[in-house]
Amino acid sequence: MNAPTAPVDLPLPVVGSLSPSRAGDFMTCPLLFRFRTIDRLPQAPSSAATRGTVVHAVLERLYDLPAASRTLDAACALLGPEWERLRAAEPEVDGLFADDAELTAWLRSARELLAGYFALEDPTRLEPAERERLVEVVLPGGLRLRGIVDRVDRAPTGDLRVVDYKTGRAPGEAFEGKALFQMKFYALVLWRTTGTVPRLLQLMYLGDREVLRYSPDEADLLATERKLLALWDAVERATQLREFRPRPSKLCGWCDHQSLCPSFGGTPPPFPEVVPGPEVPLPHQRAAVLAAQERAVD
Ligand code: SF4
Repeated sequence: MNAPTAPVDLPLPVVGSLSPSRAGDFMTCPLLFRFRTIDRLPQAPSSAATRGTVVHAVLERLYDLPAASRTLDAACALLGPEWERLRAAEPEVDGLFADDAELTAWLRSARELLAGYFALEDPTRLEPAERERLVEVVLPGGLRLRGIVDRVDRAPTGDLRVVDYKTGRAPGEAFEGKALFQMKFYALVLWRTTGTVPRLLQLMYLGDREVLRYSPDEADLLATERKLLALWDAVERATQLREFRPRPSKLCGWCDHQSLCPSFGGTPPPFPEVVPGPEVPLPHQRAAVLAAQERAVD
């Protein structure tokens, strides 16, 4: 007689995937979600999103330097190389600037954002535990949550602080909940993967030099999980019915797909016969991820 076999932990089948930006898309406008996630329509780069990408890259690399060398001048010196790195990876960003004067003004605005960072924090006194960390978890029903956290700090007590840099403006009080949704998403994934609720969520708005802080608790994160599961149910229903309705708002002004949107007299492309699988961009597609986040979540 064969000995009983030990139960094997099989990976959960993944039925769908959400990142904070994709969840934000659906909450903002279901048709926008369809265009980006199901039709996978390309998005033109914008100078603001590209600046966000480069500034994030500089702030990540700044912490490769010895603590005492993390000065504003050192950060500004990283701007040029990071811009060249992005140009090599995504040559289409070259088309953003009509001439050298525009590029120079853009680089100056990026330096101002870096100055905004240094006004908020002294990087010589910090040693982040993680930078640009991919976090993911598959919930029991098979929904995968995945995102990239700008920075995680760990205190000697073990307490975690989740930090996200924003190159857009700080939201008014009425919109703080929306801004914090992305951070609660990350906190939920970290809680589900490590068993520890992060002590602090910190959004740093480099443009207007403001910081938004929030201490989540388990009830917050359970509510976020319920919200994401309900959101995924709505995505699945819309997919079955092939019905992703437009939800016009002032954000339409930033939408790349107005010409295909019925709210602006357009017609969406035919619904794809095969809906793409639940992949979410991985870190090597960082620039695209950030560009999307800048547009969708800021
Ligand atoms: S233009 Fe507005 S309503 Fe239409 S898809 Fe874009 S965000 Fe949605």
